[in-house]
Amino acid sequence: MSGSGKIVVIGSSNTDMVVKSRKLPAPGETVIGETFLMNPGGKGANQAVAAARLGGKVIMAARIGNDVFGKQAVSQFENENMDTAFITVDKELPSGVALINVDANGENCISVAPGSNSKLSPGHLEQLLENISGQDIALLQLEIPVETAVFAIRKCFDKKSRVILNPAPASPLPEDLFPCLFLITPNETEAGLLTGIQVTDIQSAAEAARQLRTKGVANVIITLGSKGAFLLTDSYSGVIAAPQVTAVDTTAAGDCFNGALAVALAEEMPLEKAVAFAGKAAALCVTRLGAQSSMPYRSEMPA
Ligand code: ADP
Repeated sequence: MSGSGKIVVIGSSNTDMVVKSRKLPAPGETVIGETFLMNPGGKGANQAVAAARLGGKVIMAARIGNDVFGKQAVSQFENENMDTAFITVDKELPSGVALINVDANGENCISVAPGSNSKLSPGHLEQLLENISGQDIALLQLEIPVETAVFAIRKCFDKKSRVILNPAPASPLPEDLFPCLFLITPNETEAGLLTGIQVTDIQSAAEAARQLRTKGVANVIITLGSKGAFLLTDSYSGVIAAPQVTAVDTTAAGDCFNGALAVALAEEMPLEKAVAFAGKAAALCVTRLGAQSSMPYRSEMPA
């Protein structure tokens, strides 16, 4: 663990506001709910918390609004021992918010207002990326402007730091970006959208992974929910099974997996071991309720 590189997470931070009610409201309808929860969220922040709890030295780069939600997010990051020096404040837009209705069957309906996340720009990252090194891992998702993600990925590639792109939500990417990726980690749906191959089983996952490698990505992981993850590298092709657990809430399973993967790579674990490590962390995450609150600590990880 000692001497490992930094993990630079460049991504979104949101506040999730969840109302649980018997049924979801129809257009124009008001439903009186039962409980209200306010949770920190956003894929970037979730992945950063996972990495920090698992022992990574995390720098979180994000853009928040000048409001109570943004301030709460920063203090949460500080509580998780992350470096927040590259979190910038937008004077005009509010912090990102997700409004989530959940009914008695767990069915949900979500609207997201990205707010300040949509203003994270290359200029906010220049100084951070100037100092990134070959030992470091950069972890990105696509809840920030794609141009900003593309800029950051190219810069990290130039600096020889390894980039993990979790392409969520799926978005078209420039073809010449793929060779800059050390690792891409779509789930089945995202892999389908990126390749046009419907991923429904191991064979189609293998086919989609091969296509992504042909585009130039060095290594591909397609996450397969409770089945685990398909890994394709120069020397390995196959599924690494997930530990069997009783899932209580799979929210942020992918975020936990990606945060853990970054930690494993920063510690120079070989990829097969890194995927097994991430699978163990994500299996713990799905046995608990919530997003960031369900991220496991290193001390909880099985040997
Ligand atoms: P996402 O959450 O992005 O949709 P997946 O559903 O593929 O992604 O889950 C990501 C990872 O989380 C999986 O590869 C697996 O390691 C773990 N995982 C998800 N669901 C379960 C489950 N029911 N049991 C054990 N592990 C799970």
